[in-house]
Amino acid sequence: MTQTIPPGAPETGSGGALDAAELVEGLRGVFGAGVTKPLAWRTAQLRGLQRMLAEQEAAFVEALEADLGKHGTESWITELGFTSNEITHTLNRLRSWVRPRATSLPLWMRPARAKVVREPLGVVLVISPWNYPVQLSLTPVVGALAAGNAVVLKPSELAPATSAALARLLPRYVDPAAVRVVEGGAPETTELLAQRWDHIFFTGTSAVGRIVLEAAAQHLTPVTLELGGKSPAFVDEGADLHTAARRIVWGKFTNAGQTCVAPDFVIATRPVLDALKPLLDRAIREFYGADPALSDDYGRIVNERHFGRLAALINGAHVTRGGQVDRASRYIEPTILDGVDGDHLAMQEEIFGPILPLVEVGGVDEAIEFITERDKPLALYVFTNRAETRRRFIRDTSSGALGFNAPLLHMAAPDLPFGGVGPSGMGKYHGEESMALFSHAKAVLDVPARPDALVAIYPPFTSLKEAI
Ligand code: NAD
Repeated sequence: MTQTIPPGAPETGSGGALDAAELVEGLRGVFGAGVTKPLAWRTAQLRGLQRMLAEQEAAFVEALEADLGKHGTESWITELGFTSNEITHTLNRLRSWVRPRATSLPLWMRPARAKVVREPLGVVLVISPWNYPVQLSLTPVVGALAAGNAVVLKPSELAPATSAALARLLPRYVDPAAVRVVEGGAPETTELLAQRWDHIFFTGTSAVGRIVLEAAAQHLTPVTLELGGKSPAFVDEGADLHTAARRIVWGKFTNAGQTCVAPDFVIATRPVLDALKPLLDRAIREFYGADPALSDDYGRIVNERHFGRLAALINGAHVTRGGQVDRASRYIEPTILDGVDGDHLAMQEEIFGPILPLVEVGGVDEAIEFITERDKPLALYVFTNRAETRRRFIRDTSSGALGFNAPLLHMAAPDLPFGGVGPSGMGKYHGEESMALFSHAKAVLDVPARPDALVAIYPPFTSLKEAI
């Protein structure tokens, strides 16, 4: 296992390599000594993370460019700036989030007093994916540190430059005794998963999510699973199609479609699809030029395997726009497939790439039926001007999030819980939800010894029965 051993970290092994059991034991010792609990420690970690994002911006931008061909501005908006905003939001509210909250009590319990005290869980494991390798590594870490935990971060081996940057830089900005980065892939993660953790936070595919859940069951460890799925975009009759087209193109082709909450497919009536097609095409040209292969603003597919999987989805008969691919540079042109039905290959699994199928339905009712007879999505987008359509989708569909007239943006509102439902995941984070997730709400009840009001409920029960 490749692991960064920072200067000042507890001495636990020879030759600089720790095994997973020793790693967790060391962190448990640090947590047990109370190092991570004080508010001052927590805020220092968050400030350290924020300083790292500012001072090391160039290093992270370079790594993201190398891993995913991301433009620096996109990296700032979707990764570094995003995480920095989450930190600011947390720092501004942390004191009130951790304050014990007094609760009311039933009359018969008084004069007892009750409060809820948030306590950290202990040592938590964060396993992250490759597609937003800074944001999806650090945003959960922000919550875990704000709640006063020790953390091991396992970034994705499929974004190796970013993984290496995190391993190299994090120990310089946060307490190296309580925050560790372990690099590696399935074998290293398997070794980590065999340990007893106080919480496991996983972002990735449902296949690996199942592995995580099974491993956690051995220790009854609570788990958060941030998974994927097919997020539909319904475009209603009468919607502002110009804006809908631009926003769908932005949401779909950002990061070359490798976004967990990207609109996976568009669903609408035939007249709406026919009116939308030229507008989608125009938005793609506006954003990425006549040849997106030449645009600095357009990303590349992460690896050969994903390139091959995506290229196989492009079926000539259905391509209405795009379709060009280049294996050498792992380029896939922004592609639109029309005439796609529920049986098409592209509708069998999450696309996770720059291919947008258009699915025809008869109207709102049929769209809702199409959506609800499939797995509950991570996000559902509805482009509409009608209050009745909004009402129908809120009432009659279920999804991790529901966005009207804009994809992706709900992620950037820290007071909105972020997470899936059903097959798209379990558990929520961001903002105060992260605090709730990475801490235990302990019930504290304080009953005065005198007067002993409990005499009324002690046995023998004869007198109680008489009173009733
Ligand atoms: P993945 O499941 O392949 O990998 C995620 C992590 O698990 C990586 O760190 C990887 O090293 C580790 N891993 C891989 N195979 C493993 C195994 N056999 N045993 C133990 N660990 C293993 O996911 P990915 O390809 O990195 O990410 C893409 C998926 O993540 C998509 O499905 C996407 O929708 C989803 N995703 C969800 C969110 C969200 O917030 N809900 C965000 C981003 C991505």
